[in-house]
Formats: sequence, structure tokens, C-alpha cells
Amino acid sequence: MATLYIHIPFCKQICSYCDFYRVGAVSLIDDVIANSHVELEQRKEYIANKPLTSIYFGGGTPSLVAPHEIEQIVDHARRLFDCTHLTEITIEANPDDLNDDYVTQLAQTSVNRVSLGIQSFDDEALQLMNRRHNAHEAEEAVARLKRAGIDNISIDLIFGIAGYGGKSLEESLQRAIALGVGHISAYHLTIEPNTRLGLMTRRGEYTPIAEELSEREFQRVHHTLTAAGYEHYEVSNFALKGCRAQHNSAYWTGVEYLGIGAGAHSFDGKSRTWCVSTAKEYANGIFHYEGEVLTIRDHLNEYVMTSLRRIEGIDLSYIAECFGEGELQRIEQASKRWLTEGVLTRHGSNLAIPAEKFLISDAVIESLFD
Ligand code: SF4
Repeated sequence: MATLYIHIPFCKQICSYCDFYRVGAVSLIDDVIANSHVELEQRKEYIANKPLTSIYFGGGTPSLVAPHEIEQIVDHARRLFDCTHLTEITIEANPDDLNDDYVTQLAQTSVNRVSLGIQSFDDEALQLMNRRHNAHEAEEAVARLKRAGIDNISIDLIFGIAGYGGKSLEESLQRAIALGVGHISAYHLTIEPNTRLGLMTRRGEYTPIAEELSEREFQRVHHTLTAAGYEHYEVSNFALKGCRAQHNSAYWTGVEYLGIGAGAHSFDGKSRTWCVSTAKEYANGIFHYEGEVLTIRDHLNEYVMTSLRRIEGIDLSYIAECFGEGELQRIEQASKRWLTEGVLTRHGSNLAIPAEKFLISDAVIESLFD
């Protein structure tokens, strides 16, 4: 099995918290799309003979690309790969791109899942984050998708925004639940140095929230969404029954993937490569790659990290089988403290972090690293 990721690194407006690789030169989109086909053709051997289970258009802002061009890439993938197991095709979208025309055309493509960057239902918080849409437009976008028959919808929310916890956060959660979407991703705002919020923080114009408040907001998100029937199945992800993100779940379980586009990463089970071309180079058909071969230690640490970020946790018998008894004993020893504190639970050979404690998963994971 394998998955395919297509990166569209363009944004019309830069969000104040965003540190992803993206550019504002939307005039390059046509050339970048044309070269996505070229790169796809050149790199098809990377996941040759592996049935494709999902395709994900991420960004940046994939909804800046016309639906028929998205479909042409899917068609191209269908010609190159075994797609008999292809069940999920997702596009990330900004709510304000989803006008009637766009949604009508999108509904005629093979895309069957939309991931919407809503972030908040508080217009002031959206302004602080320099988002292009407001709360009403976000709700309209979801309604439009559903009317067009696209009802496999995920929305992104951000919490931990100074001044927008409490009632503001609760209202965002309730409005998200009221939309009846199957999947919600909720991320804590992080302040990266090279962002507008990073600059505002240095100037004293923004003060990140205290750790204690982060914990309370995380608990609010967890309890509100789980009470509404969402399973908290990964640190930042909640799903109604049957609505887990297949593409992301494949990443977390070590499935191989081919990434196409400037900045996209690929993984073949043993090594990782990534395209370091700028969008301009990419638009001119210049593809540069860097990469790394994963050591046994890398594999072990990745398994620990991705497993403990999911509700399924670690399978200790898998650790013993693949990495040896020594590693099993080391992990069992390092986990004792967390088991006593109730931050880890153990059932047979399963070691997991209860979902309500996911916020401190980084500390647990680091302590179990080789
Ligand atoms: S839309 Fe997404 S990728 Fe673009 S600037 Fe905002 S957060 Fe970053």
C-alpha cells in the first residue's frame, strides 16, 4: 500500500502564525501544475507496484487550483498506479475559495473529502490570524459542500490563542459540532519566530498564553468534542465513527508515500527524500532533492513517536520482535514513571497515553526515545 501527496505551495494571503513553505506568487500556479505532471511521471517508480489507497492535495492552498486541473492529476495517478484500493481523495481548501462555481465543479471530480481551514468561529480571532474568511463564510462553505453532495468534511480549528479561550473557544467548538462534520483537527497555536505573530510577540504586542491555560483549553477541546461523539484518536484529531482521516493515518502507521511538489516529502519505508526546489525553480521544471536513510534507531524512534500520538499506542511485542529484547527492557524501564503518574496505561503488550493526557505526549515520547 502507498499514498500520494501533491503539494500546492501558494497562498493569496499569509496567516500570521504560518511557518509552512508557501509563496504568494500565484502567477506561477499553471507552470507548477504542469510540472507536477512531469515530476509524477519521473518519480512513479518510487511507489511502483504498491496499490494507492489515498491522494491528498495539501498546501499552501490547493483550492486556488481549478477542479478540472485537480482531476487531471488524479487521472494521471490512475494511469500510473494500481488504484483499485483508492478510497480517499482529499483537497485542503480555504472557505472563501469555495464559491458556488468552485464547489459545483469540485463535486464533478473524484475528490471525495474536503479539509477546510476554518481555525475559529470568532471573527476577531480570525483577523488576528490574518485569515481571509469570516465565521459566516466558513459555515456557508460547509453548507455548500453538503448541498453539492460532498459530505466527507474535515475542519481545522486552532486553540491557545491569547484572548480567545473561554467563551470564544467554547462557541467555536459548538459551532463546529453543529456543522455535523465527520472530522475535526484541533491544533494548539504555536508562535514561530519567522511569523507575524512571532514579530508581534517580540515587540510585546502579543503575549502567548501560560502553560496552565493551554492545559485547560486542551481539556475543554477534548471533553467538548468527545462528549459530542467524536473519538479523540490522535493528539490533534477527532473523528465520528468511520470518519478517521485515512491519508494521515497511513503516515502515522509507516505506510510509504510519494510527495510531489516543491517542499514535498516522500518515504519508501527505508529512506526519506524531499524536494528542495523553490516554487520558481519548480515552475521552471528544476527539481532538486535531498534525503536521508533511516537508521534502525530512527525507525524505532519514529514508531514510538507516531504510535504514542495515537490512541492505539505502542505494541511492545512489536518492539521486541523488530528492535530486540534490549530495547523492550529500556522502554519498559523508562515508562515506569509515567505509568505511576497515570500518563501511560498498560494493557498486556499495549502501552498508550490516554487521550485526555495527549497534551504532554511530547515529554513522554522524548523520554522513551533511544
Ligand atoms: S493558508 Fe495555510 S499554508 Fe497558507 S499561509 Fe495560511 S496557514 Fe499557511
